[in-house]
Amino acid sequence: MKVLKSIRILEDKCVGCRACLDACPYNALYMQGKKVKIDYDKCTLCGACISKCKFEAIEMQKQAGFESAVSLKEAMGVWILAEQKNNKVQSVSYELLNKGRELADELKVDLTAVLLGSSVKQEAQCLIHRGADKVIIVENTILNHYQSGPYSAVITEIIKKYKPEIILAGATTIGRSLVPRLAIKLNTGLTADCTALEIDKKSKLLLQTRPAFGGNIMATIMCQKHRPQMATVRHKVFAEAKEDENRKGEIIEEKVSSELLNTDIILKDIIEEIEETVNITEADIIVAAGRGIGSRENITLIEELAKALNGAVGASRSIVDAGWVPYSHQVGQTGRTVCPKLYIACGISGQIQHLVGMQSSDVIIAINKNPDAPIFKVANYGVVGDLFKIIPALIKSIQSSSE
Ligand SMILES: Cc1cc2nc3c(=O)[nH]c(=O)nc-3n(C[C@H](O)[C@H](O)[C@H](O)COP(=O)(O)OP(=O)(O)OC[C@H]3O[C@@H](n4cnc5c(N)ncnc54)[C@H](O)[C@@H]3O)c2cc1C
Repeated sequence: MKVLKSIRILEDKCVGCRACLDACPYNALYMQGKKVKIDYDKCTLCGACISKCKFEAIEMQKQAGFESAVSLKEAMGVWILAEQKNNKVQSVSYELLNKGRELADELKVDLTAVLLGSSVKQEAQCLIHRGADKVIIVENTILNHYQSGPYSAVITEIIKKYKPEIILAGATTIGRSLVPRLAIKLNTGLTADCTALEIDKKSKLLLQTRPAFGGNIMATIMCQKHRPQMATVRHKVFAEAKEDENRKGEIIEEKVSSELLNTDIILKDIIEEIEETVNITEADIIVAAGRGIGSRENITLIEELAKALNGAVGASRSIVDAGWVPYSHQVGQTGRTVCPKLYIACGISGQIQHLVGMQSSDVIIAINKNPDAPIFKVANYGVVGDLFKIIPALIKSIQSSSE
């Protein structure tokens, strides 16, 4: 954050030994005469130079205004931000409750779900049945559909009031818009797209693990000095919490001031994408196409197989970038994470960025003419051959067996 130039060289102490220059991974330090200077355009405030300076000539200043809205001492409890569509809780919220319950039990604190909408009291009960101890609801017609302004203002307000220590949200279209806004308003950190979350036994901090550097390493991130610790999790990474209709919990109805609901954006209409086949994140069976399909026209072959199996059409980024299939079908690091019972990869090479989005599928079948294609390393069943011969034969056999 360039605005926080909170590191400085104490010139009276600096002897120009250059030890800090070697320690800086960002090349942000340079010599001017016999003194070290900081290039603030390069400095990320990582602090690697500070411990290398034997003369205590580098100082990290804590600027006023960089405190979190929730203090370390006060923060308590695990929250999940539930999502609703047409006042119906979306399944990603149940996945968050499953992981949230585990974390709350480990910390011996309450699990709270937050749900905004126009008429969501009934649904709050479902969140309790799936593991929440408390549900905070805010009802208003303006909150019927997600809108970044009112949603982030209202949730910030209730976070400041109740001061949770951990907040989990879906890495969905809504979560990706909402949670960074909360992080800025609350002055805290956020780890996006986590694939694993656990509590560190010693420090009791949230260990937030996510793929980094194109999926080649897994990075575990901690938010040590700010609260709440916030993480988004992709849909289908965790299993849904099981329903127990006997569970009891508390529903808290929060009223918010009308100022928080003000927005400059007028929501005129919501147009649903018309899908001939089912939505990929909810599908039990996905037939996915890659560049091996050859052209936009040939996608019909994949659609036919998906229809025959009552499944959805997935795609690699190559064919989404080529404009053959809409983005909503893309599987992978920059697309959706899916976890169907059956994933059939047709003409997909299996680069890491694709695999991170589908490798937890129950059964993977790969059809590829190259026996060395990396997709075969994750496939349970591999068919080496031309998809234009294999897929029509498959469709024929499925159709004749269902007659
Ligand atoms: C930051 C970043 C993010 C990315 N995010 C994603 C992502 O979210 N999702 C994603 O998919 N990719 C992503 N990519 C791109 C990824 O690296 C690959 O380029 C892409 O997945 C390759 O797509 P493909 O397998 O369809 O194409 P290719 O790699 O070109 O593979 C085509 C395959 O089809 C096979 N084939 C050809 N003809 C036939 C035939 N007739 N019958 C059978 N097999 C045939 C070939 O043997 C080959 O294995 C990302 C890349 C970067 C750098």
